Amino acid sequence: MGLFSRRPPAPAAPAFPAPRQAARQWLDVPFSEKDEAKSAGARWDPATERWYAPPGRMRQLEQWAALPDLPDLLPGEDRTLGGGLFVDLVPQSCWWTNTRSALREESWDRVRRMVYRRAGNRCEACDASRADGARLEAHERWEYAGGVQHLRRLICLCQPCHTTTHMGLAQIRGAAGSAARHLMDVTHMTPAQAGAHIEAAFATWRTRSAQSWELDLSMLSGLGLRLTPEAAAKRDAARRAGRDDAWVPRVMPRRDDDADDSDPCSGAATLTITPVYGDGDGWPFRH
Ligand SMILES: [Zn+2]
Repeated sequence: MGLFSRRPPAPAAPAFPAPRQAARQWLDVPFSEKDEAKSAGARWDPATERWYAPPGRMRQLEQWAALPDLPDLLPGEDRTLGGGLFVDLVPQSCWWTNTRSALREESWDRVRRMVYRRAGNRCEACDASRADGARLEAHERWEYAGGVQHLRRLICLCQPCHTTTHMGLAQIRGAAGSAARHLMDVTHMTPAQAGAHIEAAFATWRTRSAQSWELDLSMLSGLGLRLTPEAAAKRDAARRAGRDDAWVPRVMPRRDDDADDSDPCSGAATLTITPVYGDGDGWPFRH
């Protein structure tokens, strides 16, 4: 071997080669079907909060095979809309007409999983991280125009930021004081600024609640998401009337006893929210 034909040294082989790991076979299991999936062999991954099929069990679990992840930017979405933390009250006339109530559970799970993933599993308002124990939720940003409530953005919020955003519901739950404190912590508003901000949000809410709104979820069209039977029936009626396919008309208000208290975006149908000062949760402002 000549002086100039020396080969570069071969890279050192790892002492213990990593075992080849097959990609995990994820499942989309609606909550109502979790027991059935579990007895068919599905396992729960607490880190990702997702079900998966152990090796060799996919055949029995085929009905829950996960659909592909959604793209990181939805059609027509504006991720610059409504940045940061602010109180944003859904008009009373829109309650029960949100994205979650129009989508089947497994489809909503696909949506929120994408929202968490693209945010790096952090709150997009205060930067709280799931790795540090923050519970994350997907929140909708709407634009209201011409009698239509248009879905324009989905944002990943931690639970305290989400509760603050829905200040009216926080008040009903006796949590307005901690929500207001969280607002001030995150935005550095003074108490007077926070009070003025919340009052302005309630004034907007009262104006918007005086009319009814159609729901436009066209941002979620073409993604293979499935509507609930109620929402699909409304959509089909709209199609027959010659409306745009992407349009999802309002899902009519449900009865109170259907109230899903775990979903702050949906509100509660018969409660009237007014700003209250000095509630039991230590609301710091007294006028
Ligand atoms: Zn947050």
